[in-house]
Amino acid sequence: MSSYGGPVVIELINTGAELLLGRILNTHQQWICRQLSDRGYAVRRQTTVDDSAPAIEAAVAEALNRAEVVITTGGLGPTCDDRTRERVAALLGRRLIHREEVVDQIRAYFSRFGRPMPDRTKVEALVPEGATILPNAHGTAPGLAIPVHPPGEASERKPAWLILLPGPPRELRPMFLDSVIPLLNREFPLSEPHFSRTWRTSGIGESFLEERLEGPLQPHLANGLDLAFCARVGEVEVRLEARGADGAARIAAAAPVIEATVGDSIFGEGDELLETALVRRLSSLGKTLALAESCTGGLLAHRLTNVPGCSAVFLAGYVTYANASKCRMLGVNVETLREHGGGERGRGPRNGRGRLGRCRG
Ligand code: ATP
Repeated sequence: MSSYGGPVVIELINTGAELLLGRILNTHQQWICRQLSDRGYAVRRQTTVDDSAPAIEAAVAEALNRAEVVITTGGLGPTCDDRTRERVAALLGRRLIHREEVVDQIRAYFSRFGRPMPDRTKVEALVPEGATILPNAHGTAPGLAIPVHPPGEASERKPAWLILLPGPPRELRPMFLDSVIPLLNREFPLSEPHFSRTWRTSGIGESFLEERLEGPLQPHLANGLDLAFCARVGEVEVRLEARGADGAARIAAAAPVIEATVGDSIFGEGDELLETALVRRLSSLGKTLALAESCTGGLLAHRLTNVPGCSAVFLAGYVTYANASKCRMLGVNVETLREHGGGERGRGPRNGRGRLGRCRG
């Protein structure tokens, strides 16, 4: 429970000029918000700033005035443009203290690859006084969690927590799950347990899903269950959420209704991807798959070959973009293409015969 009387107030600050220049997508924002909301927490406000000292300092100071948990991402590396650690120490008026155990962790990280530790990385062992170190299993810069007491206030009020996380996703994500979530659970336990279950559907639109589910689920919704839909390319998520000790039981009671009503559109649960579900299903049926793609340019083959175990079911993929290739490699009839084909994208009419062109050989 928050000292503001509601759910804990969390703010997220993503640092990095490349985010504001549109060079990289701020996936941390989406991923962290999702991880928190799945566990019953929510980000109240998100800010993106460049990695200059004044921008970082101002954003952290403002967020600490409002929030009980402030999470920053990026700027913990060893180079001169990585300023988060130093700016936060200055803002909080804390000394940076050399922590030898961080040097040991960094040295151990490099020795796994048989490489000496670059001297420059030692700067990552300078830690603001009073910070807890969040180990980084996939990189060198540790995360930091700093309890911050509001200036001038009596210490009976709980401290806010300032949590600094590294930028690279492969470092940030495990650290968030292994260290930040346990810290939140410990310092800001939810006032009542939170439960959720997500089904992933394909081949049915969001509004059709809602139409079909609303009626049958009504008694369960009236019993305090929340129903939500989230549409993505090619699929729609159906999600049930419940709070309270009997939340899991209420979701379990509603689950058969969802499965009976739209089960034919459900391909998986949780974070399972469509391609993972497809490989799983083909494996269980002992079937194999070959693909012929055109405008998708090999996207389906790419998605499938990212799934571990795909080689057991996926035989080959053909990317046949030109009509001539469709005829030659796949044996598609030229008349079929003329009648039903969408034409060759990006090519103008050829010989005045329209976009389909001709298929030879
Ligand atoms: P490094 O040691 O790599 O310098 P760092 O903690 O200083 O790590 P940054 O330099 O800010 O982090 O970011 C490192 C890389 O992480 C970026 O180049 C980018 O690829 C990725 N990254 C940073 N922030 C984000 C974000 N918000 N969303 C997605 N990727 C990000």
